[in-house]
Amino acid sequence: VWKRCRACDGVYNTAGADGADYFHVCALVRWVRVRHQDGTRETVRPGQVEAGDVVLRDVYRPRLNHRDENTARREGARGEIRVLKAEGLGAADVAPPDPDD
Ligand SMILES: [Zn+2]
Repeated sequence: VWKRCRACDGVYNTAGADGADYFHVCALVRWVRVRHQDGTRETVRPGQVEAGDVVLRDVYRPRLNHRDENTARREGARGEIRVLKAEGLGAADVAPPDPDD
């Protein structure tokens, strides 16, 4: 079944090419740690780096409302159950992509 992740817009098949189940996890988002001219440090999106900032390093963080279809064990009313690690914004069924694309 093809799905589109509502958090990252990624399109994926829940069955991998080898027939094994595929569990979508949103890719991490790149931020950058900077030192401003006044000496203060901040972690900002790449588009927010100001003239005069010194980029110290890349930082990768989960996207807001990210989805992680891997499961974790939880204690339910009738014993152990498995739940999604993060539902995020959910995923919608979509048509398979055109193989000519
Ligand atoms: Zn996603």
